[in-house]
Amino acid sequence: MTAPVKQHLIDPAVCIRCNTCEATCPVGAVTHDSNNYVVDIDKCNFCMDCVSPCPTGSINHFVMVQKPFSLDEQFSWTDLPEVGAGESGYGDAGAAIEAVDEEAAALLADAHKGSGGKVRAPASSAKPRINLFSRSNPIEATVTGNFRLTAENASSDIRHIILDFGANAFPVLEGQSIGIVLPGTAKNGRPHPMRLYSVASPRDGERPNTNNLSLTVKRVAEKNADGSEQRGLASNYVCDLKQGDKVKVAGPFGSTFLMPDDPAADIIMICTGTGSAPFRAFTERRRRSMPSAHGRLYLFFGARTPQELPYFGPLQKVPKKLMDQELVFSRIDPVKKEYVQDRMRTRASDLAMLLKRGTTHIYVCGLRGMEEGVEKSFEFICAQFGIHWHETRAQMRDQGRYHVETY
Ligand code: NAP
Repeated sequence: MTAPVKQHLIDPAVCIRCNTCEATCPVGAVTHDSNNYVVDIDKCNFCMDCVSPCPTGSINHFVMVQKPFSLDEQFSWTDLPEVGAGESGYGDAGAAIEAVDEEAAALLADAHKGSGGKVRAPASSAKPRINLFSRSNPIEATVTGNFRLTAENASSDIRHIILDFGANAFPVLEGQSIGIVLPGTAKNGRPHPMRLYSVASPRDGERPNTNNLSLTVKRVAEKNADGSEQRGLASNYVCDLKQGDKVKVAGPFGSTFLMPDDPAADIIMICTGTGSAPFRAFTERRRRSMPSAHGRLYLFFGARTPQELPYFGPLQKVPKKLMDQELVFSRIDPVKKEYVQDRMRTRASDLAMLLKRGTTHIYVCGLRGMEEGVEKSFEFICAQFGIHWHETRAQMRDQGRYHVETY
């Protein structure tokens, strides 16, 4: 069997035949007849120029196929066809779509490893736009804010960065990530690796209807202990940005770690440190668009001290009706060290009650090391309340209700 090839397709059921894609394509790969707009696989170079101007998103479809669809086949379609076994397609939670930016796809696949094999988005989440901009074809954003979130005397420097996209469209959903494209090249002459950051603001921006987004970024020490390899290049670049600076951005990325739009959904959010970024977005979304939602948010958030917990102040103002909060600290002398997974056990009966509901969603985000502890706490809680954790988790995964993003 030959290796699958990547093919760019247009969804005829959604396309409004506005000709924008054909007019934009720099290599003449998009053509049309009286029925459909189609993409010629022999000409398309995946530059993505056609993707962001498309007003419907019908252009944003990529598949990995053993045998590419011919132009004649595409002209005859009324819908996108199914793809075969061993191939990956649009139905597969965007797996093939994400393959378009292989670097971002690999980073996300690694971050989502803990979610299990086949990761799905929640059934009620909005459809994300992804891969609109790549490393080689990034969008330029302007820095409009860079605020320190941690206290001046705290040992870590965590920052809230605001990027504005001006008149350009860069649509994101809560839970998606963006790539920061670093200027310059590494010692080997190659571009620096791209770094992904979760978007910390809701889909309509930092304030309603602003065309911006925010990130939560922690400055990481520049050298490894042995001095062998430079670390923290991206975080230092981002943390040092000044108002008015221009930044190159790729993305948006991620089509599964998304928020359910169902107001009845209860959402358990478990995070450490800057892993809180997507949950700030989730919280703002609920607060703004569904303030009287029946479902509730449950936050388990771990940091060393209150001074090092990003958004500690604003969190105090979130209404209890909207969110149940457990802020957990590991380094407050002389209090015993506590991690999020420890606090979960003290809330065992509430968590068990939530796990029994088919409307509960779980999101874990932050340090990779927390995964094991969180898993053990769910096992422990379930054992006490007669729930089979592994079966419950498998069912939640299948239904797009269990998500892990750890680095
Ligand atoms: P951190 O400050 O190093 O740690 C936060 C808290 O987690 C501390 O209280 C720490 O305790 C505790 N912790 C350490 N090991 C743990 C474990 N095994 N189980 C549970 N808690 C544990 O965190 P950070 O540097 O902000 O790291 C956050 C992680 O989130 C990074 O890996 C980052 O890549 C990832 N992330 C970031 C984003 C983003 O957009 N910025 C998005 C998604 C994920 P002690 O230090 O006292 O042991």
